[in-house]
Amino acid sequence: MDLYEYQARDIFEKHGVPVLRGLTAVTADEAAAAATELGSPVVVVKAQVKTGGRGKAGGVKIAKSAEEAKAKAGEILGLDIKGHVVEKVMITEGADIAEEYYFSLLLDRANRSYLAMCSREGGVEIEQLAVERPEALARVPVDPGVGIDQAKADEIVAEAGFEGADATEIARVLQLLGQVYEAEDATLVEVNPLVKTGDGRIIALDGKVSLDENAGFRQPDHEALADKSAEDPLEAAAKAKGLNYVKLDGSVGVIGNGAGLVMSTLDVVAYAGEEFAGSPRPANFLDIGGGASAEVMANGLEIIISDEQVKSVFVNVFGGITACDAVANGIVQAFELLGGRGEQQIDIPLVVRLDGNNADLARQILTEAGLPGLEQVDTMDGAARRAAELAAG
Ligand code: GDP
Ligand code: MN
Repeated sequence: MDLYEYQARDIFEKHGVPVLRGLTAVTADEAAAAATELGSPVVVVKAQVKTGGRGKAGGVKIAKSAEEAKAKAGEILGLDIKGHVVEKVMITEGADIAEEYYFSLLLDRANRSYLAMCSREGGVEIEQLAVERPEALARVPVDPGVGIDQAKADEIVAEAGFEGADATEIARVLQLLGQVYEAEDATLVEVNPLVKTGDGRIIALDGKVSLDENAGFRQPDHEALADKSAEDPLEAAAKAKGLNYVKLDGSVGVIGNGAGLVMSTLDVVAYAGEEFAGSPRPANFLDIGGGASAEVMANGLEIIISDEQVKSVFVNVFGGITACDAVANGIVQAFELLGGRGEQQIDIPLVVRLDGNNADLARQILTEAGLPGLEQVDTMDGAARRAAELAAG
């Protein structure tokens, strides 16, 4: 989960990383009030969007009065920055920047390690620096079992070319950022720019933090940082039911057991769809896993058919440890369950392909049940084709 800059700022502050005071606003009037509250002669109005390069896109503006902060916020709110519409701004105290540096700490999966990157040349696009002048970007592996201790911090700042009092203070700040990474279960902590002010202070002026959602169980505070408004409502409903669902924009609903099978089903459906009018495409990814109980099947179907774009559903099951007959019974019971839930009757054609363990028995169960709108097709390609055809017609 990526955080907004203001959330990263709050987390930095919590761990003692030097940051500037900042307040958020969703209207220009709130921005003016925030500027007044900060009481700083210069404030900066910053777009809160989860993408970089806000400065270049006109999403970071300096203001010298509350009136001006209001005007600048009015310009920034509603701005589209690389497809992200600005709905919130942060008003911060203005900093008198003498120099801009770069620091990041991230997970280096390939080397089973953390990687710290640091440069005296920050503020700019770091990807560009890494390509054009790689020698200006220090890259220092960090042992995850140790983190950034004094020795590691000293090594990083020395590699980056800092000296004297700056080196001492930056090393102190890097240790605090290392603590943020560790304590918050982050996978990325990036500060661009880390600045030196005219009076020699080191401050994290921007912050990009990604949190590891797999650590959510031991980070109860993190749930509140999730951006509920940006979440797709169907995905949120699926998540609440414990389903592994991703909304796509086509018209053929897809259910399968096993992520790999579902992924390939998406490809097969997209390919089959090319033959038909409007080229129907998959409407979603949904893996109901190995168990495939009636309830999971019912929940999955319910989510899929509540997507208004869905015109047909392809249920693709390969029976392994969970035999096909169990899945077939699950489908039959899911129809009954959904019938019982009232409005959520299945009124969309369903194409079912069952193969593998006990497939014959499963097909017989479905044939005998005579479920309305349900067709069986024996092959994956054939079933995908039929589902696409139904979605097109
Ligand atoms: P980004 O473009 O999305 O990375 O946004 P940043 O928060 O990094 O801001 C972009 C640039 O705006 C920084 O590199 C600074 O040069 C400038 N900037 C941001 N805050 C201040 C400030 O308080 N004072 C001054 N003088 N410049 C600032
Ligand atoms: Mn930045």
